[in-house]
Amino acid sequence: MANLESAGTTIYFETSLAPLMEIIEQGKYSKVFVFTDGNTSEICLPVFRSLLADFSEFDLIETDPGEENKNIDFCIGIWKTLLDFEADRKCLMINLGGGVITDMGGFVASTYKRGIDFINIPTTLLSQVDASVGGKTGIDIDNIKNMVGTFTLPKAVFIESEFLKTLPERELLSGFAEMIKHGLIADAAYYQSLKTSDYRNLDPAAVFRSVEIKNQVVTEDPQEQNIRKILNFGHTIGHAVESYALNSRSKTLTHGEAIAIGMVCEAFLSHRYCNLSTEELADITAYFCSLYPAYTIEPASFDALLKLMQSDKKNEHGQILFSLLERIGHCEYNCKVTEKDILESLNYYNESYNK
Ligand code: NAD
Repeated sequence: MANLESAGTTIYFETSLAPLMEIIEQGKYSKVFVFTDGNTSEICLPVFRSLLADFSEFDLIETDPGEENKNIDFCIGIWKTLLDFEADRKCLMINLGGGVITDMGGFVASTYKRGIDFINIPTTLLSQVDASVGGKTGIDIDNIKNMVGTFTLPKAVFIESEFLKTLPERELLSGFAEMIKHGLIADAAYYQSLKTSDYRNLDPAAVFRSVEIKNQVVTEDPQEQNIRKILNFGHTIGHAVESYALNSRSKTLTHGEAIAIGMVCEAFLSHRYCNLSTEELADITAYFCSLYPAYTIEPASFDALLKLMQSDKKNEHGQILFSLLERIGHCEYNCKVTEKDILESLNYYNESYNK
């Protein structure tokens, strides 16, 4: 399978990590750190070690798993650990894990001593097709998603289907939501092909296509000044729902589950504001309802959700801005929507499982 290039970063596919040793040797790094969470230490580190049998000269930095730990307290702990290890600016950090690890590890690396090199080895489907690619790093503040972060590209990204073998089904489905999003915003034929594929047994070519779409968009607009905003389809409402669930701890959602909810709501808004056809809205709604478990967005949470949307990073001059579909395969950005219609879209989602 070919590699993809992204502004100096190479995204390697299915290489069994073979080029990694060369990158480490060429970089003449003073130290190498592998950053994991408790699960990826236990499950993915043995795979990493088995693929790189000759490589043992690294120190392990481990954090607790889960979105609730993607915060500044854990970053301070990691920065201090790097200091304890006497890490200088010439060291390398390898992020081995899901999107929480690649987001937080990238953030820690891009800020430690004003920036050290890092490499992403994403081990969830979600981080392979989305989080590890494109250079967005970040952490949550008070459970508001990705409030602090940087745009910093990793030195390289390695996508290996080997890591997905241990991933729970729910996490596969979570990543699949971002793949569907890539089809919805940029490639109608790809969306149709996903509808006939099994997320539990994905063709690596489908993963490649998803990364290719993301990479194309971020290469055109690395700092999200314009077209990159289309990658946020489903995320204005999805992030608010995810943050609310994290805060209330009533029922935790995976990132993909939250984004799937957001995509149904924002497909409704696309129909109202961007001429997405009735048939396409029905198609998208039915597809998400067939894949993802029903969830109720409690009407008592609507005001809090609107407040969370007001913190969204795409907003300008206090106006909540959406990325919405004109049709399947084509997305507009900077769409203004009234609060009344946002609330209607939440009700539309709540009723969609009964349609
Ligand atoms: P995650 O990192 O929390 O991983 C999900 C769970 O799977 C964790 O418990 C983890 O320990 C476990 N796990 C990881 N790899 C495993 C494996 N191979 N086998 C078994 N278990 C494994 O979550 P995620 O869904 O990968 O990522 C979500 C995060 O990504 C969110 O914070 C989201 O905001 C972020 N994100 C970032 C971007 C970006 O552009 N930077 C894009 C999309 C999402």
